[in-house]
Amino acid sequence: MSIREIVKYPNDILRRKARPVETMDKEIKQLLDDMVETMRAAPGVGLAGPQVNRPLRVIVVEYGEELDPEGNGTPPKKKLFTLVNPEITRASIETETATEGCLSIPGLIGNVERAASVTVKALNRRGQPVKIKASGWLARIFQHEVDHLNGVLFIDRAEKVQAIQEEDAEETPLA
Ligand code: ZN
Repeated sequence: MSIREIVKYPNDILRRKARPVETMDKEIKQLLDDMVETMRAAPGVGLAGPQVNRPLRVIVVEYGEELDPEGNGTPPKKKLFTLVNPEITRASIETETATEGCLSIPGLIGNVERAASVTVKALNRRGQPVKIKASGWLARIFQHEVDHLNGVLFIDRAEKVQAIQEEDAEETPLA
């Protein structure tokens, strides 16, 4: 595995529509593994193919809710998703607005309204079909990553884009 360089805005590749993966070969598995390593090193909660300069429909997402403020109970384990050709097949009418940032757009954050829950269909790392139902932050990250595959960035959707303040830096997961 190796850490790849994260492409930064305004690189053109971030604006191109990524193409579907046709064969799950060694190269794709290597790409997914490298993306996981790159996401963890950043650190971030999601990464899409175009962000590591590969215009392919692949995403990795890793997210777990934080410990509750009282520190009670054990923190839920982070869940890792490595997905090929992901599609959002269902999105709730109900929306939520939250602050997000992007590993490809350092220093900026914005409030983005997104569906509160989604269903994602994709192939997993072994090429098997999977269906994931997600809500809250996980749903947001999936929508952010699938946007990347379509050349869409959070700054296109944010009501207002602003420079990140130091005190917010740790609270805003980057994807
Ligand atoms: Zn992003």
